[in-house]
Amino acid sequence: MHILSKSTYIKGLQCEKALYMQKKHPYLRDKLSIEQRAKFQRGTDVGVLAHEVFPGGIDMSPNAPSQFPKKAAETLANLSNPEVKVMYEAVFQFNDTLIMLDILVRDGDRWLAVEVKSSMRLSDTYYNDAALQYYVLHGCGVPLSDFRLMYLNGDYVKDGSIDVKQLFKMESVMDYVVERKAFVAKNVERLKAVVALPHSPVVNIGTQCHNPYPCDFQGHCWKLIPKNSFLFTTAMDDEMLFQCYFNGVNTNAKMLQQVEPDSEEAHQIDALETNSYYIDYKTLYSLAPQPKPKSVAFLNLLLNRPAVPELDGTRPYEEMILAFALQGEHEHDAAIDPSLRTSQRGDDMAAEGCFVWDCFEDHSRWKEAIPLLIEKLSHYELIVCFTPQNLSTTLLRHEIIQNQTIGYKVFNLYDILQEARFYHPAIKRGLTLQRLETALFGEAKLFEHSRILVEATSNDLLGYQQAREDLIIENEIVAKTYQHLFK
Ligand code: SF4
Repeated sequence: MHILSKSTYIKGLQCEKALYMQKKHPYLRDKLSIEQRAKFQRGTDVGVLAHEVFPGGIDMSPNAPSQFPKKAAETLANLSNPEVKVMYEAVFQFNDTLIMLDILVRDGDRWLAVEVKSSMRLSDTYYNDAALQYYVLHGCGVPLSDFRLMYLNGDYVKDGSIDVKQLFKMESVMDYVVERKAFVAKNVERLKAVVALPHSPVVNIGTQCHNPYPCDFQGHCWKLIPKNSFLFTTAMDDEMLFQCYFNGVNTNAKMLQQVEPDSEEAHQIDALETNSYYIDYKTLYSLAPQPKPKSVAFLNLLLNRPAVPELDGTRPYEEMILAFALQGEHEHDAAIDPSLRTSQRGDDMAAEGCFVWDCFEDHSRWKEAIPLLIEKLSHYELIVCFTPQNLSTTLLRHEIIQNQTIGYKVFNLYDILQEARFYHPAIKRGLTLQRLETALFGEAKLFEHSRILVEATSNDLLGYQQAREDLIIENEIVAKTYQHLFK
């Protein structure tokens, strides 16, 4: 059996302990977030579509990990069978390292290797992936004419059925992977030795826990770090925090001696110690809508950016509005099951009703959202939302609002809270609505916003219904937060 694979090699480059844990104690891994699972699925879907660029190939994917040796032997046999022109997920193993190459195409007496990526840009990790694959292919004696990364072409506009040759573009990374061979060989030996250790290597927590990817063993490695440790602050970057930590500054009291008493770091540590949150109220109130708006609506947009365009006239990852919930004094007529109008929280705004529109069952109707939003938003002086995206840009892009109105129309609590340096330990890994609710009200409906998108694209009526309910719940939290901060 193999020792390393593409994913464990990449993990090992980030942290030797993460590699060891993955190989020996995978059950200690944190749960994958809904967003991570969706990303994984997206990669698989795009990979399958990419096969059509080189049609007629043999799929070498094993049904179970136990089939890897058999599939590797079959792959090698296929290399010398002139009948086989293309292989998908060809399995190769060299020096205890196993890879599955997305596409391998016969090219005269050599082979063209293609690795597919579901993004529109190439990153260092993709180049590292390719370098490992080249190392294994070279080790297996596969003569290559080229090694290419294939990724989504952002300029492609769907017109009829998907034209896969236009949807993807390719970049040769042959020079890079050849040049990196010695580097990969050295790392493969190093990482194999790590896996062979009788115990997990001693690796202190550090910046590598979040960089380049959040490590999924943080629940395990960080469990002895007190929940109120200054390592969970955000005012200083991780590099500086860990520098202090490794220099013996390992308690909040010691950290407070290192920073100015009125500094943001000191305020954050205070919030940690008192299990509360910190806001720079002076900045917050300076950002409050002035004059006080006569009418306020709360808007929750559900946007979808499919990697592969679904509708004619759209490009990869082009945004469409799948649904919106609008809650405000004029919204008495919910466009959904009336039972959903009943507030589960009983606050004032929720009692005023929530309008929900969606096109879950027929995405081609998505543009119907635009005139509806134009009409509905026109009743309000202020539109309050919470989104890491720039809602003004989205509304402008779809001509839902005009340039001159954005200044006072859209009030994004996400931006306002960032500007007012809002801090709570739960937001160390990003400000989300659920973390905000935990911080302000000590309670949270435990779901990620990405869950709504998964429900909304589930092709399942129950999923659609759940998505509508969740959109309303999120909007209620936005309303409650706005009232709490600016009432
Ligand atoms: S949490 Fe940090 S130290 Fe632990 S395995 Fe992951 S990267 Fe390594």
